[in-house]
Amino acid sequence: MSSSLILPEIKVPAHPVWPQKSAAEKQAQKQRIKDLLQQQNAVLVAHYYVDGDLQALAEETGGCVADSLEMARYGTTTDASTLIVCGVRFMGETAKILNPEKTVLMPDLAATCSLDEGCPADQFSDFCDLHPDHTVVVYANTSAAVKARADWMVTSGIALPIVKHLASEGKKILWAPDKHLGHYVQKITGTEMTFWPGSCVVHEEFKSVALERLRKLHPDAAVLVHPESPDEIVEQADVIGSTTALIKAVAEMPQEEFIVATDDGIFWKMQQVAPQKKLISAPTAGEGATCESCAHCPWMAMNALDNLEALLNTHSNEIRIDENIRADALKPIQRMLDFAADHNISGKYQK
Ligand code: SF4
Repeated sequence: MSSSLILPEIKVPAHPVWPQKSAAEKQAQKQRIKDLLQQQNAVLVAHYYVDGDLQALAEETGGCVADSLEMARYGTTTDASTLIVCGVRFMGETAKILNPEKTVLMPDLAATCSLDEGCPADQFSDFCDLHPDHTVVVYANTSAAVKARADWMVTSGIALPIVKHLASEGKKILWAPDKHLGHYVQKITGTEMTFWPGSCVVHEEFKSVALERLRKLHPDAAVLVHPESPDEIVEQADVIGSTTALIKAVAEMPQEEFIVATDDGIFWKMQQVAPQKKLISAPTAGEGATCESCAHCPWMAMNALDNLEALLNTHSNEIRIDENIRADALKPIQRMLDFAADHNISGKYQK
């Protein structure tokens, strides 16, 4: 079935161009945002891939900077009545699913994800119907309606232990939507899995031959790879893992140089935890590159200080989800969070 699926064409937007600001202007804007957050009892929940200014602001104001596992969990632990999710749309939806009583806003509701866009709920539901004996495991990067059809949700930081757990119970897995992460999980766990054929436009563009060349130029560098990348990139990795695992590697491995194959927004946190280390972006612009996204997600780039400030002045861009879909989507997310709590798995780097 997967080979006969015709997936929607993903329209990759150009990277937005934000106005340049002097340090003083930026400082003044950050202060205005801090005041508005306080007045509105709002917190920032930011992903490692968004602009460094937003990550810094989230930390300075008592918010959260983390991967999607911790972002999901964080909203349930704060007293703030408004969550402002700086990331992409599925992250805002997950926050709303877990916190229906809270207002969830995003700087730009058009900030989506190619994995989410490439897995329409109606087609996915038909796909599930074809495999009634499979346990449905979906990656966080899916819409609320797709999650509503799933048994489990996973993030890259928890996919392996959850699939191992399901395999130990003799379950066959229907995996969606990222085929690269799915193949990696299958290779490690040996589990019987059926895949939805989606991929991330950012990670898909890392180029294996150019990476081999770069490794020769930097023979002492460790290669860090997110498992959303194609197999030929994953095979060259010294460390394969979630954003949190890659940050930990930079902080704790002895190497001075790292070649990083994931969104370069993560460099802000990596430099914060290991300022003396040199980070090199894995090559994306090799021959045949078709994607405009390079090593930075064009949808993550839609989050900036300017639209965050505008949002706090207008209170627009609220995430709303049909209550029946929300209630069904909550079950696979809650299963993952309970599993993470039982197994002490975190999605945030801590020294
Ligand atoms: S980097 Fe890829 S997986 Fe992450 S939000 Fe962007 S398109 Fe989606």
